[in-house]
Amino acid sequence: MPRQAPPAPVAPTSRSGRSPAATLGDLPFDLSAAELRRRAEAGLARAQHDLDGLVGQGGSRTVSGFLEPLDRVLARVRDIGSQGSLIFAVHADPATRTAGREVSEAADRFYHGFRLNADAYAALRAVDLSNEDDLTRFAAEKLLREMRRSGVEKDAATRRRLLELNQQIDVTANRFSENIANQERSLVLDSVDELAGLPPDYLAAHRPDAAGKVQITTKYPDFLPVMAYADRGDVRRRLLYEFSNRAYPANMAVLDELVRRRHEFARLLGYPSFAAYAIEDKMLERPEAVRQLLDRLAALLRDPARADLARFLARKRKDEPQATRLEPWEAQLYGPGYYDQKIRIEEFGVDLRELRTYLPYGKVRDGLFALCQELFGIGFVRSAAPAWHPAVEVYDVSRGGKPLGRVYLDLTPRDGKFNHAACFAVREGLAGVQLPQSALICNFLDPSSPAETTRMEYSEVVTFFHEFGHLLHALLSGHQRWLYNSQSNLEWDFIEAPSQLFEEWARDPATLSRFAVDPDRGRRVPRELLERLKASEALGRPLRWLRQAALASISLELYTGDPQGRDVSETARAAWARYAPEPMPPEYHMVAAFGHLTGYSACYYTYPWSAVIARDLLSPFFAAGTLTDPKSAARYAGEILSPGSERHARELIRAYLGREFNYEAFESWVAARAQPASGRPVIRRASAARRPRRAPPARPRRPRAAARRRSDRHAGRR
Ligand SMILES: [Zn+2]
Repeated sequence: MPRQAPPAPVAPTSRSGRSPAATLGDLPFDLSAAELRRRAEAGLARAQHDLDGLVGQGGSRTVSGFLEPLDRVLARVRDIGSQGSLIFAVHADPATRTAGREVSEAADRFYHGFRLNADAYAALRAVDLSNEDDLTRFAAEKLLREMRRSGVEKDAATRRRLLELNQQIDVTANRFSENIANQERSLVLDSVDELAGLPPDYLAAHRPDAAGKVQITTKYPDFLPVMAYADRGDVRRRLLYEFSNRAYPANMAVLDELVRRRHEFARLLGYPSFAAYAIEDKMLERPEAVRQLLDRLAALLRDPARADLARFLARKRKDEPQATRLEPWEAQLYGPGYYDQKIRIEEFGVDLRELRTYLPYGKVRDGLFALCQELFGIGFVRSAAPAWHPAVEVYDVSRGGKPLGRVYLDLTPRDGKFNHAACFAVREGLAGVQLPQSALICNFLDPSSPAETTRMEYSEVVTFFHEFGHLLHALLSGHQRWLYNSQSNLEWDFIEAPSQLFEEWARDPATLSRFAVDPDRGRRVPRELLERLKASEALGRPLRWLRQAALASISLELYTGDPQGRDVSETARAAWARYAPEPMPPEYHMVAAFGHLTGYSACYYTYPWSAVIARDLLSPFFAAGTLTDPKSAARYAGEILSPGSERHARELIRAYLGREFNYEAFESWVAARAQPASGRPVIRRASAARRPRRAPPARPRRPRAAARRRSDRHAGRR
């Protein structure tokens, strides 16, 4: 049984050049529920004792005597909270998940109490920073600002109420997440014939039971292929209905409570709304700026999205000549689009079912590791360190022979597990104290097949790269002297830039061709298939980004205005309708499973805003003519990833680009039209029997974006 971690040593200042080696430590992943609680209680009690001692001690406040030990206490509490949250999200045992949730809430309670601790605030303000470096001053100022924003300058009665509200918000948010994880739905099909159109490996993993019935769940490895490939429209319709009602109705009242409590919290602090509070310390600073961003996106995307919808409808008419509209289970506003796939096959010669045969998980992962080695000199070695489930892969990561941190890959769905895709902090790194550790919690791999050869959907490979972008950011930035210079303290609306940027490598034929291999046939993916895939990338992209704008609008409007007397469902529908090309069907309640409404709250706009930045961050790679340009990669790692939050995000971007970033790259990319590479439609599969139709002429494009188109989907909580 692991022992409780010893107190973290206080590191000597790193400015002297030498600091003790940071360690991985011993994490609570093989503890029982009771042991987990005991360890956390003891850790938090010790942290409180140390904090009280620090604040209570007399004498002058110095960096080495106050700021540094305070930073270490907060890092220990962050550790307890992160690991509790992770266990809550992933553990197979429900009782241990509950213990993880309680531990996370207890750590949050400590943190809220600290932020509202007027004595600690006064002590921190008294620290003499005049002779300190910019990084130290920036970290200390951020901590002070966080305390001010939490209400530390309010009177005692207000602070007590804020503390209560914080605790209620945490509990409510966790209940919302728990319902999403626990309330997966499923569909029982009468016969395997209803799965006509699905690829062979999918059918092999979904064999009928003794009565001939097949169960399909709303988990991603089940859901995504059905929505893309099932020829039976009624099967897609029924599964999308279940998917769109996950955690409904249970979460509607929970969401209502969350929104109300957050509103009260923001009002007590003097803000007009929770959105105003949540956005204030981000790059965009004000809800009005977010609305301008979304309006600008919508103005750009409405016409291209309508053109794609018209294209899908025209394709549908070949099956149903009388059709006048697309149903939600036919286009890709709510999931992968069926007619989108048909057009890819018939006009672009890309059958994603064929591509899937070249994407066994083991090859994809190894290709990703090799790419990280080439770009950033990062190596991964499998570790026997304990994890929370046998399906989890643990890797020790090094760079230039020096330990960089540890990562956990948990990619298989389980009952009760977090069911989206995200990168979780396990431990934030601190120079000379502890190495960063992160976990990718995703749901790519069908548990009924051996992981190494389980085929991934191409969109899942893109998501895998996305999450890896977060992972690289956490690993490279986790070597700062101060917790408040770490990646997690960056302006949050920048946080999806490194992840969305890294998706580009999954869309690069040169990169994909290195690892896309079908081990059953011993065949490497044909390069021409990848080139055709690239040519088809922009198909449906305007629709996907309009969808992102609509989701961002839901997140913004739920947290704007007084929720008293307002119905969350109606507010969400109205916010969706503002940007989506069609209203949300009344029988869908997707807001009940919109997990970002807890952590991202009003800030789902982070995805489009970060994408604007990410497209511009790619410019130096495009200018070099290759995504594996070593100079651009080194600069990107050095100027964007490694600094964490040493400076404001805008300054990091300016240092890397040598100028201010702008919308140009994003706008030309997002509104580009898809056109077969040869300019002519392609038919490759015998099953694609219909006559090809000519794609509409390409719009004029800016040259660079035309060469580098890609499609996108958000994934991940971070
Ligand atoms: Zn992300």
